Amino acid sequence: MCVARMTAVSICVLGAGVVGMTTALELRAQMPSAMTTVIADKFREATTSDGAAGIFRPGSNFSGETPEITKKWIHDSYTYYNDLYSSDHAELAGVDQVSGFMFSNISEDIVRNHLLEGLVPTYRAASEEELHIYPGGWKHGSFFTTLVTDCRKFLPWAMYRFQESGGTIQNKTVKNLMELTKEFDFVVNCSGLGARQLCSDKKMVPIRGQVLKVQAPWMKMALYAENDTYIIPSSSSVTVGGCRQYDSYDLSVSPHDSAAIKERAYRLLPALRSAPVDREWVGLRPHRSVVRVEPEVCRSPAGTLKVVHNYGHGGYGVTSAPGTARYAVKLLKELHSAGVGNSKL
Ligand SMILES: Cc1cc2nc3c(=O)[nH]c(=O)nc-3n(C[C@H](O)[C@H](O)[C@H](O)COP(=O)(O)OP(=O)(O)OC[C@H]3O[C@@H](n4cnc5c(N)ncnc54)[C@H](O)[C@@H]3O)c2cc1C
Repeated sequence: MCVARMTAVSICVLGAGVVGMTTALELRAQMPSAMTTVIADKFREATTSDGAAGIFRPGSNFSGETPEITKKWIHDSYTYYNDLYSSDHAELAGVDQVSGFMFSNISEDIVRNHLLEGLVPTYRAASEEELHIYPGGWKHGSFFTTLVTDCRKFLPWAMYRFQESGGTIQNKTVKNLMELTKEFDFVVNCSGLGARQLCSDKKMVPIRGQVLKVQAPWMKMALYAENDTYIIPSSSSVTVGGCRQYDSYDLSVSPHDSAAIKERAYRLLPALRSAPVDREWVGLRPHRSVVRVEPEVCRSPAGTLKVVHNYGHGGYGVTSAPGTARYAVKLLKELHSAGVGNSKL
């Protein structure tokens, strides 16, 4: 008697930043019988995710395909981090609550955030008194409470959880997505800026950022002001920034940027002058005007590859990764049920 052998579906998550790792964990949770492998050429400290300030705050220009999809990603992400924050994993995963102010002298609109208002526990206008707590003669301000995720803790935690649940890791550079056809039925492409080359996606643009990581454990509030000035505490350090340089690939620390960052941050919080600087760091935000989370069936002489793209989170990848991960897994399951072009399905 001939018994047909069932082969488990094999899935590759390309990328081990916050987008790749949240996607890998979501796959283990929703498709536990699939064989899931994370492939990347950079892990932990070598990723962009590692240096992010990690505050849960989508910019008002953060966008998915539609406003409804964008809102759902942000809602699902907040629920994910809030559940972690309320669990006994919070400390290991580096998830904490933080309150803060956002100030502007230009307009009220700058300090509002349509994606956070109504989602986080507090988002309100700063009082007249609060506008004068910090130097700057601020005309407009908001006070908020949100979450902050320290990727220096989150990425190792996520990696541990992934491997513990049966996931595997490969360290290698992928030159062409089609080279993954031999080994995998599906790929979730979480390659961040790497997608520019892998998908010939010219809409992917780096937005260079430079920050200081300082020791100021006394600083418990997050502060934002004009000209990309921010001071954001998380569990292992305080991130002081910053800058946004569109289309710059320069990964070296610029002394001019450091001086400008210090000048603006010290003006906002003079006590910061005495805080020792642990390190200076540069990262390239993987920006795309619309974050790409969509399926694609790629065909070539090498075979057929079913891909779900999940990249282009720009300056808001920590904020939005769990929500886009959930959406990407939903799309993958739809491709799976449609059985597009693969006998194993
Ligand atoms: C200064 C700064 C501050 C920030 N602060 C915040 C913040 O407060 N809040 C927030 O939400 N976001 C913040 N961000 C943005 C956040 O860091 C990014 O959105 C996020 O890290 C993107 O994650 P990712 O997983 O897509 O990319 P990455 O972390 O860059 O990971 C990409 C992965 O893909 C792999 N890869 C790529 N190409 C290939 C290939 N060809 N072969 C094999 N592997 C490949 C890499 O090895 C890596 O593992 C900040 C960014 C910067 C620069």
